[in-house]
Amino acid sequence: MQVPLLDLKAQYAKLRDEVRPAIDEVLDSQICIGGPKAEALEKAVAAYSDCRFAVGASSGTDAILNALMSLGLGAGDEVITTPYTFFATGGCIARLGAKPVFVDIDPKTYNIDPKLAAKAVTKKTKAIMPVHLYGQMADLDLLMAVARDAKLAVIEDAAQSIGSTYRGKKAGSVGTCGCFSFFPSKNLGGVGDGGMVVTNDPALAERLAVMRNHGSQPKYYHKFIGGNFRLDAIQAAALLVKLKYLPAWHEGRRKNAAYYDNKFAGQKKIVTPYIESWNYSIYNQYVIRVPNRDTVLAHLRDKKIGSEIYYPVPLHLQECFAYLGYKAGSLPHSEAAAKETLALPIYAELTDEMKDYVAASVLEAV
Ligand SMILES: *Cc1c(COP(=O)(O)O)cnc(C)c1O
Repeated sequence: MQVPLLDLKAQYAKLRDEVRPAIDEVLDSQICIGGPKAEALEKAVAAYSDCRFAVGASSGTDAILNALMSLGLGAGDEVITTPYTFFATGGCIARLGAKPVFVDIDPKTYNIDPKLAAKAVTKKTKAIMPVHLYGQMADLDLLMAVARDAKLAVIEDAAQSIGSTYRGKKAGSVGTCGCFSFFPSKNLGGVGDGGMVVTNDPALAERLAVMRNHGSQPKYYHKFIGGNFRLDAIQAAALLVKLKYLPAWHEGRRKNAAYYDNKFAGQKKIVTPYIESWNYSIYNQYVIRVPNRDTVLAHLRDKKIGSEIYYPVPLHLQECFAYLGYKAGSLPHSEAAAKETLALPIYAELTDEMKDYVAASVLEAV
């Protein structure tokens, strides 16, 4: 048996008859950037996320970049965030000349520790960017209170968490804005790159829409320097089809997670994902923690089971961020997680046979 980490062909086989005509519509219209499909997707994602506005983007990274630029972040500003995330979170902050201030994670959820974030606020802090890692939202109540007191923006990096909830509130709807990625491996993945920013703030929504077009308003008159962060219509067409199935895919992943949880119950050496009782996780990844991670990983590769480390090097120890002055040991929970975690296949189309094979292989190696 072989079990890939993600099998997009299995998903596409069921959608082919809907996706292809939707893409043909775009091709026939030759409205390839923005246009009715992109606008329909913005409306649908805003509604799905309980937000008033949504502004499409060319990727999740560009959604974050646009959000930071539209909020006016730049040189000298500090943005508090987590080091245990995909590079884009910290990269976007630094690209604007702002300073990423990394604080450690809660070792149970792997999300930013809100108490440490509160302590990291200085006069230069302009924003906090929590990441909703693996499909579970970060603990936002304290972060939002800190942000209110210090007048900070909160940008939710919800790239892995479209449709997740925290105390009944949808990802992206709690902070100043939220950013989604439609990278193919996310729960809602396009047929290429795409992303979106959601917000309830009409002025910010307006600025995001202008910023993604080089700050041009009206055309060829530039009040500020933006970029090309636009969503393409073929992505929007495919994503509109897929969005209908998203709740069912989330549920499929959650069932698979419960299945693994059950298989690993009572195993002292395997830490299964910890989901707070008030959270609804969409399980973009099912990440376990084991003491002999690299041995387990090698065994799974032998067994032709897809597995991945998210992420092997926390951002504060990346070479490109050496100038920030962090050292090994600066953020111990993130560093330990980077050494001991690995992701198992969790996609909705997995069969019980496949899950049994994955679980048995993990148990053998542990
Ligand atoms: C995927 C991801 C991004 C970036 O999204 P892209 O669409 O790949 O640019 C940003 N942050 C996190 C946490 C992600 O997982």
